Amino acid sequence: MFTRLFAAALCAFSLAAQSPSISPERIRDHTRFLASDLLEGRGVGQRGGDIATEYIATQLALAGAKPAGDNGTYFQRVPLVGVETQPSATLSAADSGKTLDFRWGDDFVGVSPMQRTDVSVEAPAVFVGHGITAPEFHWDDFKGVDVSGKVLLLFTNEPPSTDPKFFDGSALTYYGRWTYKYEEALRHGARGVLIIHTAPTASYGWNVVRNSWARETPFVKLGPNEKALAMQGWITRESGDKLLALANHSVDELLAASEKPDFKPIDLGIRVRVHLPSKVRDIETRNVAAIIPGSDPNLKNEAVIFSAHWDHLGIGTPVNGDAIYNGAIDNATGCAILIELAHAWAALPQKPRRSALFLSVTAEEGNLKGSEYYATHPIIPPAKTAIDINYDALYPWGKARDVVVTGAERTTAWPTVQQIAKRLNLSISPDDAPEAGHYFRSDHFSFAHAGIPAFSIGHATEFAGHPAGWGKQAYEEYNSKHYHQPSDEFQADWDFTALQQAAEFGFLLGQDAANQAKLPDWRPGDQFHR
Ligand SMILES: [Zn+2]
Repeated sequence: MFTRLFAAALCAFSLAAQSPSISPERIRDHTRFLASDLLEGRGVGQRGGDIATEYIATQLALAGAKPAGDNGTYFQRVPLVGVETQPSATLSAADSGKTLDFRWGDDFVGVSPMQRTDVSVEAPAVFVGHGITAPEFHWDDFKGVDVSGKVLLLFTNEPPSTDPKFFDGSALTYYGRWTYKYEEALRHGARGVLIIHTAPTASYGWNVVRNSWARETPFVKLGPNEKALAMQGWITRESGDKLLALANHSVDELLAASEKPDFKPIDLGIRVRVHLPSKVRDIETRNVAAIIPGSDPNLKNEAVIFSAHWDHLGIGTPVNGDAIYNGAIDNATGCAILIELAHAWAALPQKPRRSALFLSVTAEEGNLKGSEYYATHPIIPPAKTAIDINYDALYPWGKARDVVVTGAERTTAWPTVQQIAKRLNLSISPDDAPEAGHYFRSDHFSFAHAGIPAFSIGHATEFAGHPAGWGKQAYEEYNSKHYHQPSDEFQADWDFTALQQAAEFGFLLGQDAANQAKLPDWRPGDQFHR
């Protein structure tokens, strides 16, 4: 009885331990500066981005955080390579007698992660269903078939399910994301991948695929011995049907086949030939990294990470005469919170036992490349990292009544998350579109991919003084009018209370993770469990 009471008292103490002093006005001031026209939209590889990183590093230094980057600086160099496939790219498929040619853009798109100006592939084609190996769901599309050196055809998404125990029901798991398909194909030694697009499996039309692939794609620069696919691409449903007809198959037939657990790879008996002439350029950019050491001599080698991406779209196509994509909400707000968290953490009279690493990452808008680089070149090893708490695009629309923390429920930090929500009088709202896979589209995902429990303290959906549904409406208006537009600009009448609340939430959670005897983890059996 005594030990139980004692444990309960300890637990309550760790939560109540030290309340932070977080100022919504300081969060406002940092947001205003980072979103000003002087910073030119904080583009990667642009002057405005360099100023933004200097500002964030300087503010973290003023707060009292120490340099945690390369050679005693506040910066971690992130070498990226931009690859832009040229419209003269070709794709054809041939059986013994007949050759089919496909048109760049209209029929197929693709890029070569090998990061070379000229890549050619000719290889036999194999259809591999959804291209998934998921032991926890007893699913294996490869069934031990050797596909090394082949071009794989497959569908994105995952076997359809309403059973929460099978691919999380209707929610999208990482196995369903196209990025996973390319990673898994590479693990199997494939040369290239063509995803056969269908609107239902991709959840968006061909125009979305075409727009995002027919321009420069940033990659983390390949190391000397690092392997890469020669091609990652997509083909339209119509062209996929023509290609499969050469092998006497069809999209509908193979879609049906790929939904059965006894599916086996199908050797299509045809050869695929691809030529990808590309423009390739080096992009120099950097993450900002600062640390406040922990108070425990042993545990200070372990850390809690707070992260927020600093980059936005820079100077681009003018809209209504404005070419500066300020990114006030996306993500000056998150950087402002990050700086304020460091300020509050440094002000604690008694530092938590583990260290706190404040990380402002680059190139989120180019597919999470700054956080991906950090995850593969970590400052604190993933096995010694307690948690990553990320901030990306928060809405300064008053006082929040709720918080969205998608992914937290899959970690052992969940009971603490619930306690903190209760303490701060916030309800926890679910992700309203789990099938869209938003969890995989922000920087916390790069940390999760490395096994670190990670999620974002997301924006509120309900605000005090407004009827239910007002927040959703305001969000939809922002999303349709200002998201990734030059009009995502600082507004003088914004009320930053919700951001103060989000910062406090992350602070209490980070403090708890920094003081607990055991590191948090993904729940056993989770795809990201380390
Ligand atoms: Zn964005």
